[in-house]
Amino acid sequence: MLRPSKIVCVGRNYAAHAKELGNEVPKQPLIFLKPPSSIIRGGASIRIPTVSKQVEYEGEIGVVVSRQLRRATSGQSRTAIGGIFAANDVTARDLQKSDGQWTRAKGFDTFCAVGEVGEVPADLSSLTITTRLNGEVRQSGRAKDMVFDIPSLLSYISGIMTLEVGDLVLTGTPDGVGTLAAGDVVEVEIAGVSQVNNPVSFDE
Ligand code: ZN
Repeated sequence: MLRPSKIVCVGRNYAAHAKELGNEVPKQPLIFLKPPSSIIRGGASIRIPTVSKQVEYEGEIGVVVSRQLRRATSGQSRTAIGGIFAANDVTARDLQKSDGQWTRAKGFDTFCAVGEVGEVPADLSSLTITTRLNGEVRQSGRAKDMVFDIPSLLSYISGIMTLEVGDLVLTGTPDGVGTLAAGDVVEVEIAGVSQVNNPVSFDE
């Protein structure tokens, strides 16, 4: 059902998260890609690769693009949001730091957990994002606290690469990121819209 041509992600889009990792808030959106092969759905295991000692969850608000966007305005982008889903942008934080480039750290199989696609609310800024690790709340964010709002992100991205129908955009994580261990269960929820729940295991 979800076969995006690409998954575009946004880094440091909540000021408190940029600060917790010692980074500045970017002056324009900071984007990167995850490969479609990294997608898993709810219930499937996030697998910790043997080369990483620090795999972390990042709960995020995800967007499905419903109309092709190329050099679109923010207003045009708003009407091309076809659905909202809970996402976990799983990240090997140690490899992200050591590589400089983020492709490996963000791109392992199972590193993009995607929930069922829910409806788009009239007010996007009302969306909230909560991450629970083994039932305990670890991240609690609000779309209204984003540095760049969702239509602005889509507009910016569409000025660089054409967003195709079905493409996914992950809009950044709030503060409270932390490490996953084998045996954990991690859940990301957008209240009233979507949730995704995944066990964690070592990659054999
Ligand atoms: Zn992220």
